[in-house]
Amino acid sequence: MQKDNQIVVDGLTFIPYLKREEIATQVERVGKEIARDYEGKQPIFLCVLTGAFVFAADLIRATGLNEAKITFIRYKSYEGTSSTGTVKQIIGLSDDIAGRDVIIIEDIVDTGLTACRMIEDLKKQNPASVRFATLLFKPESSQTGFTPDYIAFTIPPKFIIGYGLDLDGKARNIPDIYVIKEA
Ligand code: 5GP
Repeated sequence: MQKDNQIVVDGLTFIPYLKREEIATQVERVGKEIARDYEGKQPIFLCVLTGAFVFAADLIRATGLNEAKITFIRYKSYEGTSSTGTVKQIIGLSDDIAGRDVIIIEDIVDTGLTACRMIEDLKKQNPASVRFATLLFKPESSQTGFTPDYIAFTIPPKFIIGYGLDLDGKARNIPDIYVIKEA
């Protein structure tokens, strides 16, 4: 449902926050940073499902790294609009990352719990290096002090949907990013 640029999902109202053009500009910038840092290398991108799939598709193309690989992993920590505080791995890693340069691609870093858990799990598999790229970073929500290596946008601690990010599985296909409207 849409009214005055607002959208309603599951009874909650959201207002426009980041337009697709702004997102594209920042994704291109991050892609160029990764291309510069990994020139001549064959990194493996690890897309964190489900929220990062839209960002990952645009980011890996923006890097232009023709010999990079992409694989997928799934963690879950959110129910509705807030973190449960526990991080569950739902789908594991199918590729061997030993000796590889890994770049994790995530939609959003909120408390940082998912990021820290993932990096800890991956390091057990002896990759050559692990770096972390995120579309959105909410430093004020951090419970871990974790800071991603590549950040498209730093935002305040408000609930966001669109461009891959969901509300209980909905709204991932919205091309722009919306923020929850406060009462
Ligand atoms: P963290 O472990 O850093 O608290 O949260 C990571 C996960 O929580 C993200 O991958 C994402 O699935 C979910 N998440 C955190 N903040 C938001 C938000 O503002 N909107 C949505 N849709 N999901 C969020």
